[in-house]
Amino acid sequence: MHSRKSPGSTPAPPEITYTNCRRCGTEIAGLDGRYACGVCGWTNHYSEGYRPLPTARDDPDWTGPHCR
Ligand SMILES: [Zn+2]
Repeated sequence: MHSRKSPGSTPAPPEITYTNCRRCGTEIAGLDGRYACGVCGWTNHYSEGYRPLPTARDDPDWTGPHCR
């Protein structure tokens, strides 16, 4: 009696990835291929990430389009 997690029921957590900053060369960590260098401020474009960005509706704090 083994219970397996069924894939697709819950989104996978972000994967931690590493790269070298393209501006200053510092090794930096990011999530899902998106990086922000804390040394020089370089960031890569969000479209370079492995997955599409979550929308506001995917945010657990999202309560509606008119909520502020
Ligand atoms: Zn940098």
